[in-house]
Amino acid sequence: MPKNEKGICIVSGFDYLIIPSNGQMHSPDPDELLSSPSMSVFAVAVCSECKSHYLLVDDDVQEVEVDERQMGNEVYYAADCWGRCESCKLDLNVKVDFSTYAGEWVLIDHDSDNCEMAELPQGLETLIEEVRKIRVPAEVEEIEDWAESPEGCAVFVEGKDDQLVIMEFLRRIAKAEPTSLGINVLRGIDGGGKEWVVRSAAFVDNVMKRVGKEIRYLVVLDGDALSYAKTVQGPVSKRLFLLPKKELESYLLDAKAIAQALASEEAKVQKLLNVKKGGGKETLEFALQSLGVHPSPQVKQIIARHVVSVPRDFERLMEAIRTI
Ligand SMILES: [Zn+2]
Repeated sequence: MPKNEKGICIVSGFDYLIIPSNGQMHSPDPDELLSSPSMSVFAVAVCSECKSHYLLVDDDVQEVEVDERQMGNEVYYAADCWGRCESCKLDLNVKVDFSTYAGEWVLIDHDSDNCEMAELPQGLETLIEEVRKIRVPAEVEEIEDWAESPEGCAVFVEGKDDQLVIMEFLRRIAKAEPTSLGINVLRGIDGGGKEWVVRSAAFVDNVMKRVGKEIRYLVVLDGDALSYAKTVQGPVSKRLFLLPKKELESYLLDAKAIAQALASEEAKVQKLLNVKKGGGKETLEFALQSLGVHPSPQVKQIIARHVVSVPRDFERLMEAIRTI
């Protein structure tokens, strides 16, 4: 990302594009490198109260229908980038409307709330570089489709954070893409959460009965689901794998890894990790937000990449996957 350029950064696959937020409105992409079903938008903004820098993220940008403006095969997108200034207790938001048409990306409009667009501060550059190198999982199949002709095995997880972090740890253990080993890490049907994950597994069980075929799957739950896990009945109850720690984020409370991922100082990160007790999601997200980064699933994945050694619990998970 060039310095001194206010911009909205679109990351798509391994490529990225900066759309300047003022001045030039059109940006060429003649080879259509950026057209991808999984796209993220980053916007750098300063809090309107304290002027601290934040990286606001929308990592699931959606195509939108804009009938009255639509011409030819112009495709419209709407990004809603969020962040939070913990010291001012403000939710920061930048909304961006943009489109692609004839090999050009066009910024249509942007609107910010509680913040103003800013230049990229030092440090955050490193993070954006890493984000764009992330291998985005092939657009995750629907469980319904997968169960109809199951290849390999399925690992059901509670949400996108879990999906990206678990995939990162499994990839590091196997030194290969989990999908290339037939391991499909899937989110539950219709959203996230432990109930949905278990419902998805029950759905697969029913398909199994219907097609009379064995389907290999495992359901991964965080430690805080322990009492819930005890209430789960039926065949699914034998396919549960509980990560002992409270929340997935508990495995990412590593000051050194966070400091490396965000190009920050370890001592500063450690101090922030000590502010919010709880030892999980809240602790991690407070620290990340205080460092100016929205705690998106991708950011958590990058931290997982920097944790020096993969936690033992994930090696146990890999063993469990291999033996289901
Ligand atoms: Zn502020």
